[in-house]
Amino acid sequence: MAHVLDGRRLAAEIERRLAAVIAEALDAAGRAPGLAVLRVGDDPASGVYVANKEKACARVGIASLGEHLAAATPAEEVLAVIRRLNDDPAVDGILLQLPLPAGLVEGPLLAAIDPGKDADGLHTLNLGRLLKGESGPRSCTPAGVMALLRTAGIPISGARAVVVGRSILVGKPMALMLQAADATVTMAHSRTRQLAEVTRTAELLVVAAGRPHLIGAEHVTPGTVVVDVGIHRRNGGLCGDVDHARVEPIAAAITPVPGGVGPMTVAMLLVNTVVAWCRRHGLATTALADLLS
Ligand code: NAD
Repeated sequence: MAHVLDGRRLAAEIERRLAAVIAEALDAAGRAPGLAVLRVGDDPASGVYVANKEKACARVGIASLGEHLAAATPAEEVLAVIRRLNDDPAVDGILLQLPLPAGLVEGPLLAAIDPGKDADGLHTLNLGRLLKGESGPRSCTPAGVMALLRTAGIPISGARAVVVGRSILVGKPMALMLQAADATVTMAHSRTRQLAEVTRTAELLVVAAGRPHLIGAEHVTPGTVVVDVGIHRRNGGLCGDVDHARVEPIAAAITPVPGGVGPMTVAMLLVNTVVAWCRRHGLATTALADLLS
C-alpha cells in the first residue's frame, strides 16, 4: 500500500504556523495581512474556490478584502480595481480568480497586478524570478507540491522526475521548481509520443494534464512517488488525472483526490500573502523558510 501524501493534514499544520506568525508580528505590523481575491462573473466552481480561500484566510487571521464584479464589467473597470488594490496599503496579496468571463483577456489584467502583491506567483516578473532562481512569490500549486514532497521526506535531489503537462499555471513552474531542487526533469505534454514509456522512467511523477484517469498502472513503475494535480467532477464525486485505484497499489507514495494537492494550493496562497506582509513591514520570514521554493 502506498504512503498517502496527505495535503489536508499538512495544509492544516501550515495554517497553524501562519496563525502563530501573524499573532506574533501583529503588534509590530500594526495591522493584519490582507488578501484581495478579485472575482469577475459567476462561474460556479470559482464561487466555491473563492469561498474556500476566504474561509482559510479567516482561520489564520488574514483579512479578506476581495471584490466581486459583474460578468459584463469592461476591462478598463477591472483594471481600475486592480490599480486601486495595488495602491491600497491594507492589501498584501491580490489574486485574480480565473477563468474570466468571455470577452475579458487575462494577460493584461494579470500583468497589471503589482508583482510584490502577486499572491498567485503568476506575474511575468515572478515567473522570471523562478526561472533565474531569485526569490519571489511562487505559483501556489507547484509550491504546494514541493512542500508536500519535502515534508514527507521524499528524495528530490538526483531523482528522475517526469511532469505531465506544460501549463504556465502548473506544469512549467513545477518543472522549474523540481529542477531547482536538483531533480533530473522530463516534461511530457499532449504531443508526447508513447507517454507510458516516458512516465515509466519516473521515480517521481507529477501529473497536471487535466484529463481524468489519464495515468494508469501501465504508466507507472512500481515504487514511484505519484502526485496527482488533476481535479474533475465525475459520477457525483471527484477524481484526478491518475486512476488512483489502479496506481495506488504499485506506487510508493501517492496524493489522494480530494485531499492532496488542492488544500496545499490554498495553503501556499496564504503563505505568499503572509510573506508579502512580513516583507512590507521589514519582519523576518525565517519561520516559513522551509515552505519557500
Ligand atoms: P491546462 O489544460 O492548462 O494544461 C494541461 C496540460 O496537460 C497541457 O500542457 C497539455 O499539453 C497537457 N496534456 C493534455 N492532455 C495530455 C495528454 N493526453 N497527455 C499528456 N499531456 C497532456 O491545465 P492546468 O491548468 O495545468 O491544470 C491541469 C489539471 O490540474 C486540471 O485538472 C486542473 O483542474 C487541475 N488543477 C488543480 C489544482 C489544485 O489545486 N488541485 C490547481 C490547478 C490546476
